[in-house]
Amino acid sequence: MVDPDALANDIRETLHAVLGRSEGPVPLHAPEFRGEEEALVVDCIRTGWVSSVGRYVDVFEQAVARACGTRHAVAVVNGTAALEVALRIVGVGPGDEVLMPSLTFIATANAAHHLGAVPHFVDAAPCTLGIDPAALKCHLERIAETREGRTVNRETGRPLAALVPMHVFGHPVEMDALNALAAEYGIPVVEDAAESLGSRYGDRPCGGLARVGALSFNGNKIVTTGGGGAIVTDDADLARHARHLTTTAKVAHAWAFLHDEIGYNYRMPNLNAALGVAQLAQLDDRLARKRRLARAYMDAFAGHDHVAVFAEPAGCRSNYWLNALVLAPGVADARDTVLETLNAAGIMARPVWEPLHSLPIYADAPRAELPVTADLAARIVNLPSSAHLGGASA
Ligand SMILES: *Cc1c(COP(=O)(O)O)cnc(C)c1O
Repeated sequence: MVDPDALANDIRETLHAVLGRSEGPVPLHAPEFRGEEEALVVDCIRTGWVSSVGRYVDVFEQAVARACGTRHAVAVVNGTAALEVALRIVGVGPGDEVLMPSLTFIATANAAHHLGAVPHFVDAAPCTLGIDPAALKCHLERIAETREGRTVNRETGRPLAALVPMHVFGHPVEMDALNALAAEYGIPVVEDAAESLGSRYGDRPCGGLARVGALSFNGNKIVTTGGGGAIVTDDADLARHARHLTTTAKVAHAWAFLHDEIGYNYRMPNLNAALGVAQLAQLDDRLARKRRLARAYMDAFAGHDHVAVFAEPAGCRSNYWLNALVLAPGVADARDTVLETLNAAGIMARPVWEPLHSLPIYADAPRAELPVTADLAARIVNLPSSAHLGGASA
């Protein structure tokens, strides 16, 4: 038997050795501003271009598209809005079901719900923490059937209108297998790349691995615009539609207010885009330092009997947005003691999200068997992952 307090104290001391002793608490993930942020934001104010029109929005979109290896990017107010619009442009609507992980941030499910669709939760793979293609295949073989040319859930009769893989903490999922499976069933794929800007699957950047991708630039993400998001795609028609929908679906005209769809006011303001332009210029440096921190954590816990730091899947390069300490199954019961001990010591460690299927608000949502999700969720402790903890920039 392992004493939970002894294990927690051991973890705390190991983390202190990596992080050093700091004055205040060590946050889970702090934004950092080491570039031209202030100058560009001030430029918006001095020129008056603070709102939804301005040159930084265009510059930012080009930089985002470049980072994701896509032809187009459409900047929006946050990642949830990006996901909602991404789902809508691939055809998700009221009464549809959207296949997604249960082990994700609430926004993935909420975006589907806001369209009148229903999340349909599928299980995770231990090697990626994201959707398990093998488990999804078994599940689809059991529940999917074709009716009038559409793939539907035979148990509910609702169309399976999209698949949303999410790269947990920046670690790429097995995207080729998921894309192939979705293609077999005629289900469009929307990549929730909110956590994975800068990650690579093989040599391809996350965000650009499916028909459409959605990013977040919230304050806790690897790059921030204060609040923000983007829809990325290679498809010019989808990009045009996303841009149209997110700018109230106004028909271009010299003076008339004509709107041909019920759109959204989701356009990213120029002020936020200015911040983003300065932030994206630092992405490579930030990725290098986050790698260094992940390496330091892994080295510190190498050979530990009861915990390990999650490492990027083979063939991938993770952005290591959030580092995860994974407790061995035998010591899962010690998780809360570990969290209490670390937080009491000023190390703001956090559990992973409550799996969405276990939240009362989504308890009625259809789902596959979720044994791996439940097991992983009980054993993951996220560690402080701000890039500066990985050392000064080179
Ligand atoms: C952060 C995040 C989002 C949504 O981003 P917001 O900008 O906060 O709306 C969506 N999905 C996942 C997995 C996220 O981590």
